[in-house]
Amino acid sequence: MGTCQWTRGRVIGRGSSATVSLASDHQTGKILAVKSVELAYAELLQREQRILSLFDCPHIVAYAGHDVTFENGKHFYNLLMEYADGGTLTDTIQRQGGRLEESLIGSYTREILQGLSYLHSKRLVHCDIKGRNVLIGSNGVKIADLGCAKWIDVSSTTKAPIAGTPLYMAPEVARREEQGFPADIWAVGCTVIEMATGRPPWPDVVDPITALYRIAHSIDVPESPRWLSEQAKDFLSKCLKRRPEERWTVDMLLKHPFIVGESNCPPKQVTVSQITNSPKSTLDHNIWDSFGEDQIHIDPSNNSPAERIQQLSGGSSSSRMPDWTGEGNWVSVRRSEEDENSLELEGQIPVEEMGGSDSVRDSDEGMRFRTSSLIEESDVHSSSMSDKYVEMIVIQSVRKDLLSPVNTSKNFCLLMKILSTKIMCSAKSIS
Ligand code: ATP
Repeated sequence: MGTCQWTRGRVIGRGSSATVSLASDHQTGKILAVKSVELAYAELLQREQRILSLFDCPHIVAYAGHDVTFENGKHFYNLLMEYADGGTLTDTIQRQGGRLEESLIGSYTREILQGLSYLHSKRLVHCDIKGRNVLIGSNGVKIADLGCAKWIDVSSTTKAPIAGTPLYMAPEVARREEQGFPADIWAVGCTVIEMATGRPPWPDVVDPITALYRIAHSIDVPESPRWLSEQAKDFLSKCLKRRPEERWTVDMLLKHPFIVGESNCPPKQVTVSQITNSPKSTLDHNIWDSFGEDQIHIDPSNNSPAERIQQLSGGSSSSRMPDWTGEGNWVSVRRSEEDENSLELEGQIPVEEMGGSDSVRDSDEGMRFRTSSLIEESDVHSSSMSDKYVEMIVIQSVRKDLLSPVNTSKNFCLLMKILSTKIMCSAKSIS
């Protein structure tokens, strides 16, 4: 597909690696979404483009082209796609007061399963199903963010990297053993819990490392919300079997009474006008006025980096525990190209006061924090990103698909935030 001529509009979302903006297609006047990353770090986005361009399914966000632009002195790689005007499923849940009605949960789940059934039939595992990666379009649910997706190649002997979001990881993924179709089914179960409670599963764990350990090595499964019907709970139990071979497949789940019962009842879509002032065309209200607008509002009187980090993480100055369930507008951590360190998750994170004046160790050179301009690199240094307690990490080295270790003890909130986004391990780090 040739890429259209387009103009960038306001920012509508940020992930751990990319910024997503509105885009106006010059030829058709249609509003699109464009996911952009600096060209030098665009390897994952290019991979996502290659995958997305192969698909045509009403429940997978539609591909609309790609190109490279030169903006503000930098080259950007852009992936253009269908614009889902209802935002993410997580946003919808929050707008509905933190939980959806059971009938709506059933409808959305059916459409997620239909999208997954399509992906699985193409032998692709999504690897990162969660409310934030499910978009609500005017004609239904769209699975998005295929940046972690991977092909199941039975003939391949190399172990593919593990990817995903810790709280949605299946036990076999948390143990870094395998990540096949059943891992997506577990994540569907977690997403149903998110729709019913407004939170990811495992609400009682204090941090993602503890969660990962519990997911991997306990006999527990996430608790079903009590208010759900027996049918919905039964559906959940089929998704949340600890042993992947016992989990139902996507096509079995599509026949479950919880889902079939929903098929005659069209999703009670919350209308776009009810939930957002998203524009439908370039003629709509002032959509270009807010170009480059940041999504976070922060009290400018908070000058201390520690305070701002705490505020961004959702914690108040009086509470030490951040709300690490959200993930917008945060951090992308990258190391220098030559860094080849492998991942090891070790132990518990010491919960210490934030702040302090430790300096960053030599080995931290090359690590960059890109945020919504609210935390500057200098802030991170001055508020002390150092120490030896925790060797772990995180996120995408966009160039190499590697995890990069972050050494920290004091920036607990920041670390929590990082961990609640996405972990990608290299095959190297699994061995
Ligand atoms: P992460 O890696 O952290 O999961 P990412 O960097 O791959 O995220 P996306 O999750 O694809 O980025 O997008 C970030 C946000 O942008 C989404 O949570 C959503 O709010 C918004 N967004 C993405 N694609 C679209 C779209 N097609 N229509 C509307 N909003 C979108």
